Amino acid sequence: MATSDAASRDQTQVKKKVIVVGAGVIGLTTALCILEKGDYEVEIIAQTFPTDPKSVNYTSHWAGAHYVSSAETRSLKAEAAGPTFKVFWELSRPGGAAEHCFLRLNQTEYYVKEVESPN
Ligand SMILES: Cc1cc2nc3c(=O)[nH]c(=O)nc-3n(C[C@H](O)[C@H](O)[C@H](O)COP(=O)(O)OP(=O)(O)OC[C@H]3O[C@@H](n4cnc5c(N)ncnc54)[C@H](O)[C@@H]3O)c2cc1C
Repeated sequence: MATSDAASRDQTQVKKKVIVVGAGVIGLTTALCILEKGDYEVEIIAQTFPTDPKSVNYTSHWAGAHYVSSAETRSLKAEAAGPTFKVFWELSRPGGAAEHCFLRLNQTEYYVKEVESPN
């Protein structure tokens, strides 16, 4: 009986393994989000990692790290751009641990034709 209890306890403590392919900004963010759930062990498999020399096969080394939503519909803005913005806004919070990794800048955009208001 004790053995069976221990076995079932062990089973509940075994974390499911998730393999993330790719170590660019998308792969690393995905891995971090899965890890933060706490129930998974994550392994990242990739040809190129951030510490490798720059390569044309690894886009994240070249990015300017400029975040602007390019979602063109309200539903995309609500489902993807909004939550992403909230994460960046919180990370860049004055006084926060990552404050100095960010610059919050106002941006003015000019369009040739009229576009839907972002608000
Ligand atoms: C000059 C430049 C400036 C940019 N500026 C910005 C910016 O200011 N703001 C912005 O938001 N975006 C910017 N971007 C775009 C941004 O860089 C990309 O959208 C982003 O980095 C893509 O990330 P990713 O994780 O999808 O791909 P990547 O960073 O390319 O990572 C792909 C990963 O998958 C791995 N992989 C691929 N195929 C295989 C395989 N067959 N087997 C094993 N591993 C594999 C690679 O080794 C790598 O680890 C810029 C891009 C460029 C080129």
